[in-house]
Amino acid sequence: NHVEHATVEKIVQVANAKDLEPAKVPYRDYDAYIADGGYKVLRECYEGKYERDQIVELLKNTGLRGLGGAGFPTGLKWGIIRQQPKPRLMAINGDEGEPGTFKDRHYLETDPHRFLEGMLIGAWVGEVEASYIYIRDEYPAVIKLLKKEIDRLYAEGLNNGVKIDLRRGAGAYICGEESAMIESIEGKRGLPRHKPPFPSQVGLFGLPTLTNNVETVYWVRDLIEKGPEWFTSEGRNGRKGLRSFSVSGRVKNPGVKFAPAGITIKELIAEYCDGMAEGHEFKAYLPGGASGGILPASLGDVPLDFDTLQAHGCFIGSAAIVVLSDQDKMRDVASNLMRFFEDESCGQCTPCRNGTEKAVKLMQEETWDQELLKELSTVMMDASICGLGQAAPNPLLSVMKHFPEEL
Ligand code: SF4
Repeated sequence: NHVEHATVEKIVQVANAKDLEPAKVPYRDYDAYIADGGYKVLRECYEGKYERDQIVELLKNTGLRGLGGAGFPTGLKWGIIRQQPKPRLMAINGDEGEPGTFKDRHYLETDPHRFLEGMLIGAWVGEVEASYIYIRDEYPAVIKLLKKEIDRLYAEGLNNGVKIDLRRGAGAYICGEESAMIESIEGKRGLPRHKPPFPSQVGLFGLPTLTNNVETVYWVRDLIEKGPEWFTSEGRNGRKGLRSFSVSGRVKNPGVKFAPAGITIKELIAEYCDGMAEGHEFKAYLPGGASGGILPASLGDVPLDFDTLQAHGCFIGSAAIVVLSDQDKMRDVASNLMRFFEDESCGQCTPCRNGTEKAVKLMQEETWDQELLKELSTVMMDASICGLGQAAPNPLLSVMKHFPEEL
């Protein structure tokens, strides 16, 4: 409802809606997308209107960063892949497992060709042989929809020789970590790899691989068409750009909110969510899903963006905002999240595997042993292989810092 592209002029009912249950959603199909100027930029790329390095520079100027959570500058990433030997591959991360995140699903279900065009522009810039799209299996309607629309792309010849391979995830949170996703695509258990080497150097099947989140490539067409200013002229509280916030929890009107980067939670609730839900008073919020920590309402004026929350021990990640109220206990929230991490830990390294299990037990005690929990958190953050174990203590540390009265 705050997403420009979702308000399509020509809404097309899914042709075989029966097959796409449970999500019988209207979406912009190939013909509607073409009518809206779709694939013009991609055709111009193929026809030589742009140089590949020109697109890399343009993306650098927009300041676009990876919207899956890590926030790596997209232009830089696209430039790095161009320096790698061929053959190269591309892998699109549509695992979207961070609790509270649903923006990728929203964009795929409403405007899949905007995503596919961005992906193919990336494939052209990176001169890749194939692009693997990894979609979580919890999105069956998206998978069916994409299959149908990718067939159409092939029929129109728009893939330009690039093989597009749609892969189903199998429900593991850790497969949202790019190297675990790569392992999973290769048909192995989704265990994160040690880095370096980075996927851009040694990725899928040992080849240099350009990995991007769904939403990151979704905006590429618009950024080229409208120019960097379209993006950089937006922003609040000293930040630049636009962000898709997945807002859930105790608000009147949750959903995907396309809002300026740097907006505060108070502004987001008031201007985009019609305020708090009836009978709920704003108490706290998760700025970045399960792993981004918990902030109290007293820090409701902090700009929401990459790099702005570190001072408070939090991060925005994929911008999954969960709003909590006076009816929620923060120690319960943190315990719940730690159980989630315990469940989703891949078990490869001891600090995360044993640390999450130990933390869950300690957090079940009436009185938390805060010294021991802090020590455990330090070990997990310092010695875990990947982001899951490193970020798992964030909610727990937030509660000790901001809500000591609950302990
Ligand atoms: Fe697996 Fe956790 Fe270690 Fe990551 S930190 S590799 S999820 S055990």
